[in-house]
Amino acid sequence: MSRNQQLFDRAQLTIPGGVNSPVRAFKSVGGTPRFIDRADGPYMWDADGKQYIDYIQSWGPMILGHGDKDVIEAVQKAATRGFSFGAPTEGEIELAELICELIPSIEQVRLVSSGTEATMSAIRLARGFTGRSLLVKFEGCYHGHSDSLLVKAGSGLLTFGQTSSAGVPEDIAKHTLVLPFNDIEALETVFAEKGNEIAAVIIEPFAGNMNLIAPGQAYHQRLRELCTNAGSVLIFDEVMTGFRVGLTGVQGRYGITPDLTTLGKVIGGGMPVGAFGGRKDIMAHIAPLGGVYQAGTLSGNPLAVTAGLVTLNKIRQPGFYDTLTARAARLAAGFQAEAVKAGVPCTAQSMGSMFGVYFTPTIPQNFAEVTKSDIARFNAFFHAMLDEGVYLAPSAYEAGFVSIVHDDAIIDETIAAAGRAFSKV
Ligand code: PMP
Repeated sequence: MSRNQQLFDRAQLTIPGGVNSPVRAFKSVGGTPRFIDRADGPYMWDADGKQYIDYIQSWGPMILGHGDKDVIEAVQKAATRGFSFGAPTEGEIELAELICELIPSIEQVRLVSSGTEATMSAIRLARGFTGRSLLVKFEGCYHGHSDSLLVKAGSGLLTFGQTSSAGVPEDIAKHTLVLPFNDIEALETVFAEKGNEIAAVIIEPFAGNMNLIAPGQAYHQRLRELCTNAGSVLIFDEVMTGFRVGLTGVQGRYGITPDLTTLGKVIGGGMPVGAFGGRKDIMAHIAPLGGVYQAGTLSGNPLAVTAGLVTLNKIRQPGFYDTLTARAARLAAGFQAEAVKAGVPCTAQSMGSMFGVYFTPTIPQNFAEVTKSDIARFNAFFHAMLDEGVYLAPSAYEAGFVSIVHDDAIIDETIAAAGRAFSKV
């Protein structure tokens, strides 16, 4: 029996499903999850010693690749000064200043420890600020696992959402409306009917949790106008896209100014950090200044903040995103070409350092289209790639990530592996 399987069997005795986050269990692709022993640069090694080129990147954070020497050195140094104080530190100011400088819509920011906390807190703040309850979210977008957000579309446009998780009371779900993503008409209808009840709209401006779906600028422009006219808070959830599609996120790319932004992943450089921030007049409503409560024992943790600071200071260097973006584009074009060669109906695209590989005949534009993916074929492709030593996300509904140490040779090696994998599926 493989060591991965031994560990999986053992893990399931004390950890539900053997994992601490569900997608790690390989439930949708089948097979034995790989227990990771260590990682370095673009590579990870599992418990059986097999090497993989890693395109998950811890689901986004590892934009410098694994084991960046500068990050390690800074974190080691910070560790000697203390792990956590429960009192403010200068590093937190530096990280806040850097975030506010790089993303100008963020005038003030508060640090938390995960993306879930960031979105949950931003929604509470928007509700406290507007005095309204209704939240609008979109089908296929994921914003972490707080109660208001574990809601799926009801049967019609203006029906309230239904819970998508056991344990979320209908009384909470009824305050969330779920709209089809990337559909301007649906936005206009909901604002016409309920605009003055809407506290906030939360959106992944490029969705990375239903594979990668990127609406055009016009969609976000219209969303911005509708929120402004209705006095609703527009929350861009850039936990995934922030510092991934470019240095300034989707908002910088499109020139849209959200009221609040949530961040996570890259800003912690692989350590637990999330953040929410935006308009100063809205942020003034958070405790201790205002009446919206929000707190955290490990918020602004000095080791995590150090990892984030070093990461952000490296990725803001001139040329960083040009190189990174070119690598992801090379990878997506390579996947696409190999699929065509093998006669597999599969498409691919990249946005900054995120990429999508879709087992659909054309690039999907919304949740309904992405759910038409040929899942059986994706699963076979995923396992063929794993055999080739390429670790893709274990689901047809997740985006992929490229780091700065995935050089052209590694990308080309991946494309060659994809060619062999496509010919088997
Ligand atoms: N928002 C988005 C867009 C995400 O992709 C995620 C996690 N993948 C979250 C929020 C939640 O972040 P976390 O897992 O750190 O709680």
